[in-house]
Amino acid sequence: MRVSLLRLFRRFKSKQMSRAISLMRNLEYKSLNECKQLQRDFLFNILDYSIKNVPYYTNVARRKKIQLTKENVFEEINKFPILTKNILKKEFKNLRAKNFSGTYFRNTSGGSTGEPAIFLQDNEYLAHNNAIREFFYNWAGRREGERLIKLWGSQDDILKGSSGIDKFYNKFIQRTLFLNSFEMSEKNMMKYIKSINKYRPKIIEAYAQSIYELAKFTHKNKLKVYSPQSIISSAGTLSEDMRNLIESTFKCKIFNRYGSREVGGIACNCEVSNNLHLNIFNHYVEILNKNMVPCKSGEVGEIYITTFHNHIMPLIRYKIGDMAVVANTPKCKCGRGIYTIKSVIGRTTEHFKKKDDSLVFAGYFRQLLYYLDWIKKYQIIQKRYNLIIYRIVLEKDAPKTDLEKIEKSVKKIMGNKCEVKFEFVKSISPSKSGKFLYTVCEIT
Ligand SMILES: [Zn+2]
Repeated sequence: MRVSLLRLFRRFKSKQMSRAISLMRNLEYKSLNECKQLQRDFLFNILDYSIKNVPYYTNVARRKKIQLTKENVFEEINKFPILTKNILKKEFKNLRAKNFSGTYFRNTSGGSTGEPAIFLQDNEYLAHNNAIREFFYNWAGRREGERLIKLWGSQDDILKGSSGIDKFYNKFIQRTLFLNSFEMSEKNMMKYIKSINKYRPKIIEAYAQSIYELAKFTHKNKLKVYSPQSIISSAGTLSEDMRNLIESTFKCKIFNRYGSREVGGIACNCEVSNNLHLNIFNHYVEILNKNMVPCKSGEVGEIYITTFHNHIMPLIRYKIGDMAVVANTPKCKCGRGIYTIKSVIGRTTEHFKKKDDSLVFAGYFRQLLYYLDWIKKYQIIQKRYNLIIYRIVLEKDAPKTDLEKIEKSVKKIMGNKCEVKFEFVKSISPSKSGKFLYTVCEIT
């Protein structure tokens, strides 16, 4: 049964996807230089294609006098403007390639804050995105057709995966069981633990916050949970304390994968390091400081991404809204020639803002709540420069001394004028995309 299903799965896979996976496997352990060659070729091809076929970029090339060759592509890309979500909305029609005859579909960004952006993606993009997902699954120890549990929250993805041919494909071919992380209530979490114990997945793929909630619940109730080979966490920052609790609860390694709906899988750590290998097969990634200069080792910068394989609407230097720390050395101990970055420190929305424009990593406000046993759930909201609200679902009464300590620590970093309010509530809902946000900055 297994063998025939596996064959069927291979038939489901497009030739493009199989070719992309072969390329990834062939290049995986080659040198950094060889990987750079690959980036040069892909980057040249997509920029050249965009200038010739995408009206917005035809104009850019004319205006900026771009003369593209394979030799100068890493310099000429600097002449391309940054693509923001606003430009994407405004120039939507001009960003679409002329005379594109392939299959494509509409997608939207997660949009945890504000309006989600709409963009178009084609079949080739999809094949390459599926390939990188499969490639990262391999790193986490899962081979094609082995059991997978997805603790996922996007309603679209869940609905798509639970009816008709998709349901059949997921259940029998991909052997994927979906658990909806939209509502991580105690009742649901109990059900999920039972499902994991019964299904015994090779790996679990989950939203960082959802698997963290599940680990906390398991730990608190001293439940027995099946230990998969590994866990892939995605969508959201995986902090050190989250990593430790998840790994010790499920007794396995956690792989931190970073990606987005706009561009798919961007990076993932390997089995020997917590640094993240970039998906050099599908993207050209730039990490730039405020002056638009590439960040040095250890520096924090904004992430800009150029997609290689989406010909209906190529994204060039797309400002994804996340920040990353550049690694001390791009080479990883595992021997792979794929560049690494140190970490993604989260959405710019995962930062609180000060009046002088400086950012404070929102993790600072979260860690003030660590190890406080009277807190069941929380969300911290910056309403304005001088108002921070701690919304808390109580486990038991909050000691006054703890509240005073939190207030003092917030003021230490935000200034004495900053007001700190505590709101005690019955529940906190996840955002529209199903992701639970621990911190929200409402200053735009
Ligand atoms: Zn590595």
